[in-house]
Amino acid sequence: MLDYIVVGFGLSGLSFVEYLDNEERSFVVFEDYSQKSSRVAGGLYNPVILKRFTPAWQSLEQLNNALPFYKNIEDKLQEPLVFELPILRRFNSVEEQNTWFEACDKPILNQFLSAKLIKNTNTALDIPYYFGEVKRTGRIAIESMLSSYIQYLDKKKRIQYESFEYEKVIVKDDYVEYKGIKGRNILFAEGFGVKENPFFRYLPLVGNKGEYIIIKSNELKLQEAVKSSIFIIPLGDNLYKVGATYNNEDKSPEITSNAQEELQKKLESFLNVKYEIVDQVAGIRPTVRDRKPLVGTHPEYQNVHILNGLGSRGILIGPSVAKELYDHIQNDVPLNHEIDIKRFEKLR
Ligand SMILES: Cc1cc2nc3c(=O)[nH]c(=O)nc-3n(C[C@H](O)[C@H](O)[C@H](O)COP(=O)(O)OP(=O)(O)OC[C@H]3O[C@@H](n4cnc5c(N)ncnc54)[C@H](O)[C@@H]3O)c2cc1C
Repeated sequence: MLDYIVVGFGLSGLSFVEYLDNEERSFVVFEDYSQKSSRVAGGLYNPVILKRFTPAWQSLEQLNNALPFYKNIEDKLQEPLVFELPILRRFNSVEEQNTWFEACDKPILNQFLSAKLIKNTNTALDIPYYFGEVKRTGRIAIESMLSSYIQYLDKKKRIQYESFEYEKVIVKDDYVEYKGIKGRNILFAEGFGVKENPFFRYLPLVGNKGEYIIIKSNELKLQEAVKSSIFIIPLGDNLYKVGATYNNEDKSPEITSNAQEELQKKLESFLNVKYEIVDQVAGIRPTVRDRKPLVGTHPEYQNVHILNGLGSRGILIGPSVAKELYDHIQNDVPLNHEIDIKRFEKLR
């Protein structure tokens, strides 16, 4: 009998599987490529909410856990995946600059916000005010990480490329059976795909569609990520990810011309140089009504678990909540009530 059956291999599935793999637990993953949130993500890790200059939820703890976590995967897969990348927040007014200065002195934020303002010297950008620099930020090459990790699992015969058929699961007291495979536990990590999952679709996962355009510009020559009304994220080879959009209404997986227009309009409001669009991507962020992850064990079945709801900050949140869930299942460590799906018991 396997220790785990894992459904979904985005950031949530990968985070949990990494603990299973390190602890030498046996498992099999099912992945059908129906959701793309992780594969299209910008991959930025950034502990600060740049709209209001406040620390993101538990960001310091998450950052301290996430960086060694991704470095470990880098070593395991022998591929560069973690790139330090400063984020320059564009100020829109003198008031905003003053708010930034106030934030620089606050606890936690003082570790991340630089009090030295930066003047724009890049003629490709039209930026009248200064930039504020966020420190200890970076980018995880998340698409490469997922595909290399899948190859790693493939070699170990630990992944099957097929849609999980929920009606074929048999849940017994001390194991779960699926198409002849027995597992002591099953973990569901399908992102927005959880809407099809009869065990957990009662949970209030909203879903928020995000799109990026990928542009090529030989003249932009940007070394840092710039945050204006949108992000410009350098990818190397004169390529940049520009976005993303936030759309709560449209849950379709396709790219849209509306998003392209919106992003181009925002970009061209401060970009002075020529560029060409080389690609466009879309995915549904698994967002939750109360903006906290969905983690825990099914109220009726002790061996059926969920890891979901990473929202728009999965890179930082994923490794921490996966560890919490792992410790909860394996070592009976109580879950933080903020992330525990028990908070939605009444919705069942
Ligand atoms: C445009 C965009 C930009 C983003 N940028 C950032 C960023 O810069 N930084 C950051 O921290 N976060 C970012 N995010 C958010 C981040 O991507 C998410 O928090 C994270 O990807 C969620 O991961 P997940 O594994 O829970 O879900 P998903 O990535 O959706 O993974 C779920 C997986 O389960 C599979 N699956 C679903 N149903 C089934 C089934 N029945 N059978 C088999 N497999 C199934 C899917 O194919 C998928 O691979 C961004 C998101 C978007 C959309």
